[in-house]
Amino acid sequence: MNLRGHTTEGPPCRRMEKVLQQIADGRARGLKRWYGLAHAARCFRCGNFLQRLSLSLEALKMSRQIEPDVEALARLKARVKELSEEG
Ligand SMILES: [Zn+2]
Repeated sequence: MNLRGHTTEGPPCRRMEKVLQQIADGRARGLKRWYGLAHAARCFRCGNFLQRLSLSLEALKMSRQIEPDVEALARLKARVKELSEEG
């Protein structure tokens, strides 16, 4: 049994996906948030998933602003793409 979780690229752990989504969009609080972050810190797939999700949401938020920072948005999108292609 591998206690460190997944170490290769792939979808996040099924039981963590919802929690990670809630952390990324700020809905998860307290113990749930702590638990998800602790898991993402040692699980390669969930860590990647959370990072990608957070960046995507940030890009989305930014693109909804009245005067979006085009340069920052492009940087964010490039980073998300990079993460998706890594591994
Ligand atoms: Zn995981």
